[in-house]
Amino acid sequence: MNSTRCPRCHSELDEGPIMYRCATCCRAVYAADLENEYVPREPVAA
Ligand SMILES: [Zn+2]
Repeated sequence: MNSTRCPRCHSELDEGPIMYRCATCCRAVYAADLENEYVPREPVAA
């Protein structure tokens, strides 16, 4: 949970925890949006 990534470009986000800023997209990403959009790309260990 330490690494927060942009849902669009998957770059690491700065600031937070309420609102993050993506330097690559130059857009603000809200934590609430991350919960809706962000899909972890890491394989799930069964
Ligand atoms: Zn981005």
